[in-house]
Amino acid sequence: MAEIEREAMEYDVVIVGAGPAGLSAAIRLKQLDSDLEVVVLEKGSEVGAHILSGAVLDPCGLNALIPDWKEKGAPLSVEVKEDNFLMLGEAGHVRIPNFPMPPLMNNHGNYIVSMGNVCRWMAEQAEELGIEIFPGMACSELVYGDNGEVKGVVAGEFGKNADGTPGPAYEPGMELHGKYVFISEGVRGSLAKEVINKYDLQAGKDVQKYGVGMKEIWEIDPAKHKEGTVTHTMGWPLGSNAGGGSFIYHLDNNQVYVGFVVHLNYKNPHLFPYMEFQRFKHHPVVAELLKGGKRVAYGARAITEGGYQSMPKLVAPGVALLGCSAGMVNVPRIKGNHNAMLSGKAAAEAAYEAIKAERSGDELTAYETEVRDGAIGKDLKMVRNVKPMWSKWGLTASLALGGLDMWTNNLLGFSFFGTLSHGKNDAESTEEASKHKPIDYPKPDGVLSFDRLTNVSFAMTNHEESQPCHLQLGNQDTPIQVNLPKFAEPAQRYCPAGVYEVVENDGKPEFVVNFQNCVHCKTCDIKDPSQNITWTTPQGGDGPNYPNM
Ligand SMILES: Cc1cc2nc3c(=O)[nH]c(=O)nc-3n(C[C@H](O)[C@H](O)[C@H](O)COP(=O)(O)OP(=O)(O)OC[C@H]3O[C@@H](n4cnc5c(N)ncnc54)[C@H](O)[C@@H]3O)c2cc1C
Repeated sequence: MAEIEREAMEYDVVIVGAGPAGLSAAIRLKQLDSDLEVVVLEKGSEVGAHILSGAVLDPCGLNALIPDWKEKGAPLSVEVKEDNFLMLGEAGHVRIPNFPMPPLMNNHGNYIVSMGNVCRWMAEQAEELGIEIFPGMACSELVYGDNGEVKGVVAGEFGKNADGTPGPAYEPGMELHGKYVFISEGVRGSLAKEVINKYDLQAGKDVQKYGVGMKEIWEIDPAKHKEGTVTHTMGWPLGSNAGGGSFIYHLDNNQVYVGFVVHLNYKNPHLFPYMEFQRFKHHPVVAELLKGGKRVAYGARAITEGGYQSMPKLVAPGVALLGCSAGMVNVPRIKGNHNAMLSGKAAAEAAYEAIKAERSGDELTAYETEVRDGAIGKDLKMVRNVKPMWSKWGLTASLALGGLDMWTNNLLGFSFFGTLSHGKNDAESTEEASKHKPIDYPKPDGVLSFDRLTNVSFAMTNHEESQPCHLQLGNQDTPIQVNLPKFAEPAQRYCPAGVYEVVENDGKPEFVVNFQNCVHCKTCDIKDPSQNITWTTPQGGDGPNYPNM
């Protein structure tokens, strides 16, 4: 394709992604200096359309950013009243009492929220401060300056043909240049991945780890609804096949968030995370709660799990990684939104000082220091060994040792274990299919459990079919020639949206990519054992349209 001419617009700070991290950064910049020119670009059709969290929100990030959020009408109305932790067996459960839990696991003072709605509200606050927010604008490329620094992004390219050539309604998009570019794309961001590789930001750090989280919203029988109740479970149905667990959060209006996370370092390529989730809902405790209710929404998203030791270097010339683009989830708490907000605030403060000093395009080292030495670093450091313990020694040992480790970190400020390493990345953790037995999953009953495609229709995802497939295969033959014989092509199972299929064509297996179904969870980019799938951003406005995830 001939060199594309694009208009360029100049800003002080360009922010990719209107999640809690990006919006916090935008708000803080304008709080510090109302004359700063700030733009936020979001690939979802509206702010919140692609946001998927549990979510129990620790309000510490919001308190720091907008202390009067209550008066300003933030959608945090359901305070956590009850915290339950259950260990499930196939037919029964044991409740783990709250007193041996380290204080950080306590949800007292936290809120059950729709993070989509919180982001919509934050966007309103940002716009009132004069921030330009452009939803439906996917940032597809980074723009580099003469000295190798990141100087901007390309956003808003539309209308390519399937082969990548310009179609009849082609729009080249624009270049948006900034003195600094903030990448707040959330987990496994495509531009973040490029930045991490180009500037070698993972050097000297542990590998990043992930889980895949799936979530449904249910409207349940009012008699069973207990607003403010939080329940976490572990154990069945995953057992020793994989790490993970569930969350059940009772918000208002008789709605319940039912979610399930499977750690992506599982070895058995026959494992089917989506079917584990469906099976989980048939546990007597869960089935009893959901019976008579209806599922009203479905979605999925990967979650970062590497924590403290896996956070890459956060800055390179002209660019900073915020929130889950750098992996700031506290895994045992299953919480990252508070850190995403705090990181946005810290990045904004560093950029403000730099711009005031007439700097641009350099490394915001003050941001890196604040994250590692400040509240985020403390939050993540305390729990840094829980995930590696779970991966190495399994659930029971990690509960005991991880609990002890969190207590000693909490009370004494150190760990007897030092900092444990995660070992292999999640793609490398997948073992050959011949070493494992296929797993027989019960057929969904259409009442409590649903087949994948029916559920995906409840994510309201949509992609313009004529555009290039945004799920790019490095080698077209790898799925059938390598992944199928070696790993029983696990893409058929690890994708929670049924994007990947192996079908028979003239008696031969063929790999099919139904990219229209994609819910932007990024699991394929993470778990493909051959690391042959690259998730790139489709044109803006495409993807899921989550109501109040
Ligand atoms: C199942 C699940 C349950 C969770 N539960 C909780 C919980 O209960 N509490 C909690 O605190 N945390 C929870 N988390 C973690 C939490 O969701 C993350 O820590 C948080 O979303 C990180 O915020 P962020 O702003 O970095 O990224 P995101 O919230 O992911 O926001 C990124 C935004 O950037 C946009 N974007 C991405 N790429 C581009 C691009 N190239 N161009 C334009 N826009 C782009 C996306 O569409 C999105 O809107 C959970 C996560 C999952 C998956």
